Amino acid sequence: MKKKVHIISLGCPKNLIDSEVMAAILAEGGYEIVPLPEDADIIIINTCAFILPAKEESIDEIFRMAELKKHGICRYLIVAGCLPQRYGALLGKEMPEVDLFLGTGEFSRIADLVESLCEERPLQRSLIGKPDFLMSASNPRLLSTPSHTAYLKIAEGCSNHCSYCVIPFVRGKFRSRRVDDILNEAETLAQRGVRELIITAQETTLYGSDLGGNAPGLSFLLRKLARTEGIRWIRLLYTYPADLDDELFRTIRDVEKICNYIDIPVQHIDDDILTSMNRRGDSGLIRRVIADARRIIPDVSLRTSLIVGFPGETKEKFERLLAFVKNTRFDHLGVFTYSREEGTRADTLSGHLPERVKRIRKDIIMEEQSSISREINQSLVGSMMEIVLEGESDIPGYDYIGRAKRQAPDIDGITYVKAARKAIGDMVTGRITSTDDYDLFAEALD
Ligand code: SF4
Repeated sequence: MKKKVHIISLGCPKNLIDSEVMAAILAEGGYEIVPLPEDADIIIINTCAFILPAKEESIDEIFRMAELKKHGICRYLIVAGCLPQRYGALLGKEMPEVDLFLGTGEFSRIADLVESLCEERPLQRSLIGKPDFLMSASNPRLLSTPSHTAYLKIAEGCSNHCSYCVIPFVRGKFRSRRVDDILNEAETLAQRGVRELIITAQETTLYGSDLGGNAPGLSFLLRKLARTEGIRWIRLLYTYPADLDDELFRTIRDVEKICNYIDIPVQHIDDDILTSMNRRGDSGLIRRVIADARRIIPDVSLRTSLIVGFPGETKEKFERLLAFVKNTRFDHLGVFTYSREEGTRADTLSGHLPERVKRIRKDIIMEEQSSISREINQSLVGSMMEIVLEGESDIPGYDYIGRAKRQAPDIDGITYVKAARKAIGDMVTGRITSTDDYDLFAEALD
């Protein structure tokens, strides 16, 4: 009988892709992937260790699954990804129920390792090597997103070394996949019914910079990807302000399939804070890039993320950030409170702020953003949008939930749609009829 594996994927879409690769390798290796942990012989938790809440979520989940193991519900427990890569042997002592800790470089060996565990072959409990795994089109993937959407990882790791961030330590230096390898994967995904590709990496705008010589960059890649038959939308996440340029904006504007949507995590706007964050580019550059994006792509939808409560963020500096949020009017915005991470340069800075202050600052920004988002949404009433249908609605009077081109999955709002009988994954044209703070309501046109 096939052994059953349940995989829990925590953290970002990049982690989700790694989980999908592990799931597919295991399925090809003769294991059955099951949706419930209670049904599994083996549970794998692919963890996140980016900031404190992500670590807490990972640890809670490990302990929750350890309980199942204690009650004999599952046989083996594996903890993979960023948390073991970061804390290695330390976790082993604290978590005796875990049979195997796997770093971020070991995903491709998962089937052999699970087999060794099941056959009780001698195996080191902690396998944490160099974080050098770079997926390729030859890695199978068992998609866990709705079948019409898939994330596409174009690079791994990061060489930026923002002073607050542990990613370069757990994911290694920035390394791009080859253009033809990415195109192959896009084609396979399209053949499987994927209509929307969501381009990810720790930083997408640096794509190709490590491939040497005249290696093509992100604009070239996006133009090539847009030729993939069957793909209708291409969406760009995780750009870096200092690496955005007019050429990329023109590509986004001119290539119909690329959504007029850019995720530009700016983190802060105060120059001293940006310097202590070790971010490339100052406030002038950030403002210029945003103005350029809006000049070149008039209907662009901009998303950003910010960090509040960074060491040294005085009241004045925070107010500068708040004024920037008010004036810039991002379509979508997320805020993190600064999280002290051992081993990072920011942790050694003076001027750390109490958690309470950080939380208040986050709430102030989110309150401001909710009225900005409400106003922007109201201005969209009457406009026509292409919407992908993603599921059935539980709001009376609306048949489906979906997303417009201006909405990325999970992080932005959604669109409720009134539509005659359609299938999930269909793309319809709808007129926006009403809105709330974050969501849109639309009526599909026949
Ligand atoms: S760009 Fe900065 S914040 Fe983003 S992953 Fe790289 S080091 Fe971390």
